[in-house]
Amino acid sequence: MSLERTLSIVKPDGVEKNLIGEVVRRFEAAGLRVAGARMLHLSRRQAEGFYAVHQARPFFASLVEFMTSGPCFVMVLEGDGAILKVRDLMGATDPAKAAPGTIRKDFASSIERNVVHGSDGPDTARFETGYFFAEFELARRGGAA
Ligand code: ATP
Ligand code: MG
Repeated sequence: MSLERTLSIVKPDGVEKNLIGEVVRRFEAAGLRVAGARMLHLSRRQAEGFYAVHQARPFFASLVEFMTSGPCFVMVLEGDGAILKVRDLMGATDPAKAAPGTIRKDFASSIERNVVHGSDGPDTARFETGYFFAEFELARRGGAA
């Protein structure tokens, strides 16, 4: 595996349920390191831009409404195979289909209000990390300068 960075968000429902610590704990327990993090209440434009790949989907307007409904906790995680690791810990989009022990199985209330986001590949990880963080805001640990 290779050292990767990925972007994750504790969505407004997760923040509302006080799950920031629990989500970060699961990521850290899996060996991932937090390279950067902050609270952020997304504007409509920021949410639309972030989820632009979904703009033609029927759920887009509702998704933007949800993502702007309260503050989020955005973070960059770093580690071996970080992108897939985060996706595995999150579980399937629909909590009804998510595997036992995943964040979404344990805490999500619907396919929309599913507590957490994670980049789905190297290209999206790069785009999404740059969407919220400048390089100088990200700590480098575990090697390369
Ligand atoms: P995310 O991108 O947030 O990590 P994902 O990659 O598992 O989630 P996507 O297909 O990228 O799923 O959908 C983005 C988000 O849009 C979902 O996490 C969910 O909040 C919402 N969403 C997806 N499908 C639906 C749907 N059928 N109805 C309502 N909301 C949906
Ligand atoms: Mg996605």
